[in-house]
Amino acid sequence: MAKKIGFIGLGIMGKPMAKNLLKAGYALYVYDIVKAAVDELAAAGAIPCATIREITDNCDTIVTMLPNSPHVKTVVLGDGGVAQSARPGTLIVDMSSIAPMASQEIQKELVKKGIRMVDAPVSGGEPKAIDGTLAIMVGGEQADYDEAKPLFDILGASAVLVGPIGSGNTCKLTNQIIVALNIAALSEGLLLAQMAGTDPRKVFDAIKGGLAGSTVMNAKAPMMLEGNFKPGFKIDLHIKDLANALDTAAAVGTPLMLTAEVMQMLQHLHRVGEGQSDHSAILKFYEKMADTEVRSEG
Ligand code: NAD
Repeated sequence: MAKKIGFIGLGIMGKPMAKNLLKAGYALYVYDIVKAAVDELAAAGAIPCATIREITDNCDTIVTMLPNSPHVKTVVLGDGGVAQSARPGTLIVDMSSIAPMASQEIQKELVKKGIRMVDAPVSGGEPKAIDGTLAIMVGGEQADYDEAKPLFDILGASAVLVGPIGSGNTCKLTNQIIVALNIAALSEGLLLAQMAGTDPRKVFDAIKGGLAGSTVMNAKAPMMLEGNFKPGFKIDLHIKDLANALDTAAAVGTPLMLTAEVMQMLQHLHRVGEGQSDHSAILKFYEKMADTEVRSEG
């Protein structure tokens, strides 16, 4: 008989991840507050659930893919949540990007009921969720990581156990800081090229193989040069991640000067209606400041 897995949170990321688990042969019990998302997965062969209780009645392993810390707290610890009805020994694999301290707080409550949890946020976005090639960053116990590894092998190209509970999300915040600051640096550099009368496309072609070259540059510079800011990864999601990074930094006393500055740019972009744009739209902040558009001639 196929192993039963619960899956809660069927959004941009959760939907294709759940579909990959279905394709791999798991019996998948799915729940989301949006019924249309549950119906779509049911049409693909999943077992639709109207309550979280229906999941805990059937599954000892439950994956969650939710927006942020409050959503995970509600689903796991809230009224009618996983912790109320899950059997002791149940393993929660939270793949949402949330605050590391929230992961630790949630796990502390779960321990009282004998429920296990790993935090396992991902990088790679919707295309890699569809391909099953996400980069997965895990926090938790080795034995729980080992137990979840077959799922990670289906959903991702890599899964690294970074440390104890919360470490996966600390790793994800590090990733998000580096990505945001890279996009800001790229914007600043391309703007200088444009205003100094040099074709920014040629600059990109000339430097992408050198030390400044990066995955971020290869993915985002072409979008910027075309003025294409279709998401990808939305400004509003990056605000959420940097807010979690700044909160974590405040708790442990880390100076995050550049992160704080880029956060102001993102907040401005949100205010002027760019919250749903790709984070490469950080360029628009610079363009507004300089009253100059960065566009390739080629
Ligand atoms: P999303 O908003 O598309 O999906 C979240 C889903 O959770 C929605 O279907 C929503 O209805 C559901 N949900 C919310 N509250 C719920 C509740 N109480 N009970 C049940 N379901 C509930 O978000 P997403 O883009 O799929 O992102 C999920 C997580 O993955 C986020 O933490 C995000 O930061 C992270 N992430 C996203 C990307 C990306 O490119 N979109 C990339 C890497 C990581």
